[in-house]
Amino acid sequence: MSPRGCRHILANGKPCRATPMRDEPFCFWHSPAHEEEAAEARRLGGLRRRREKTVSGAYDFTGLGSVEAIRRILEIAILDSLGLDNSLARARVLIAGAQAATRLLETGELEARIAALETALESRRPTEPVEFDEAA
Ligand SMILES: [Zn+2]
Repeated sequence: MSPRGCRHILANGKPCRATPMRDEPFCFWHSPAHEEEAAEARRLGGLRRRREKTVSGAYDFTGLGSVEAIRRILEIAILDSLGLDNSLARARVLIAGAQAATRLLETGELEARIAALETALESRRPTEPVEFDEAA
């Protein structure tokens, strides 16, 4: 039995190489002894991905990869909280959301200013790299 990795041969003809299960030459996904469990895990994974897609679509959520996307999450949390009865917890969520939004606005503004500076520098010196005076 190979100590290196799962011996299952994938559709592309290459070995799987995932960490094998203890006392087995195969990983969890390719172990004949765990076929049912692996199928159930795949099914649950599929359900989860479908649910994620549905929820993302319903909330117009595209992840946390940009200032815009993070703003969307804050909007959802704040709108949902505004719809609740007034309480100390609701007020805390709104204040925390406002604080997070303020930081996000600052970050977004800085990004825009840096982009504008970069564009200005590039248009000044189209070919030469920007040099800084180290003595200054
Ligand atoms: Zn495998």
